[in-house]
Amino acid sequence: MSKLTWRMAREPGLTPGEPGGLGGSVATAGSGGVSQGPPASIEAVRGAGLSKGYGEGDRRVQVLAGLDISVQQGEMLAVVGPSGVGKSTLLHLLGLLDRPDAGTLELFGTDVGSLSAAGRARWRNRRTGFVFQFHALLPEFTLEENVAMPMLIGGTPMREALAAARDLLTAVGLEPRRDHFPDQLSGGEQQRGAVARALVAGPELLLADEPTGNLDAANAESVFEVLRTLHVSRGLTSVIVTHNEALAGRCDRILRLAGAASGEACSRT
Ligand code: ADP
Ligand code: MG
Repeated sequence: MSKLTWRMAREPGLTPGEPGGLGGSVATAGSGGVSQGPPASIEAVRGAGLSKGYGEGDRRVQVLAGLDISVQQGEMLAVVGPSGVGKSTLLHLLGLLDRPDAGTLELFGTDVGSLSAAGRARWRNRRTGFVFQFHALLPEFTLEENVAMPMLIGGTPMREALAAARDLLTAVGLEPRRDHFPDQLSGGEQQRGAVARALVAGPELLLADEPTGNLDAANAESVFEVLRTLHVSRGLTSVIVTHNEALAGRCDRILRLAGAASGEACSRT
């Protein structure tokens, strides 16, 4: 497994415990130093007046303008809207990959705007799982190693991380493929592997940005089925950006982004 050690040493920010890195030395999930653990009925996501724009002066583009968003614990929310409306921008805010220009964001009862940079990095690594349109599995590692990666980055011992990876691979129907490399897998299998990787460290919030956008109908169905099943079995709160209205309709609720310029941030169905 020396390849893994090599990779972690080579990539800045991947070393467990490194300041600003994805790891961190705090041992318990959610110990951002703020939350004591949420009561059962709390909202998982509460964003109020979220605004985000890019660029300066004449070139300024206001993407989100005072968006309110609320997601209950255990809810699977679909986010739909035309290209460029700000779906990915919203997901980046919820995933603490970016900060809003204005507005407040509470996740599981914690005002995440007040977390330090290291606290935000810990939050991302331990409490949030990301799935993107392109799987981004690392080509030089096996599927099992790829899935174990977030736990290894977080400082979990190799044996434990690989055991957790095998459990997730079983859950997504890919255990027999665990020693395969990403280029030996179909598009749907790669994306199911990406789902397994997103969930291996036991996050509470799953953020998926067009997870089936690159797949044919059959593979899109298999990936959505895996997302839905794991959402339920792991008690997740999930926000799924999609252009696929049929899949959006199978989520618990749909948030339709209409764009900052329309004067109406969003509507719900
Ligand atoms: P969607 O995911 O709905 O297609 P995005 O959130 O990716 O939309 O982007 C919304 C708008 O913000 C687009 O016009 C995009 O070009 C712009 N944008 C997104 N990220 C950046 C960035 N980092 N810098 C400048 N403009 C950006
Ligand atoms: Mg997008």
